Amino acid sequence: MFESTQNREEILESLNRLEIDLADTYAIIGTMKDFLNDTLTENTQFRLENERLRDRIEELESSTNARKSVDSLQKIYDEGFHVCRTYYGKVLENGENCLLCQEVLS
Ligand SMILES: [Zn+2]
Repeated sequence: MFESTQNREEILESLNRLEIDLADTYAIIGTMKDFLNDTLTENTQFRLENERLRDRIEELESSTNARKSVDSLQKIYDEGFHVCRTYYGKVLENGENCLLCQEVLS
């Protein structure tokens, strides 16, 4: 197989080409690793940002719900009923102001 000079030169040439191809392949692997790292970093940042936004939405929703409950209690109180824990649902006497109810509504 290695009997002639021509064969040796062909083999050397093949090895040189292979060396160049391998260098290119290493460069591509390096680029892909960088890209993967950037993507993972970006992904983590998006995940954290997403969690932060989800928390914020939950926070906003719960404050909206709390506001809605107070509004509906206020309506019941305005219609003449106690909304305080002690007298809840009992009729307010004419012109009566209940401090406990007002505390709930404040
Ligand atoms: Zn009351």
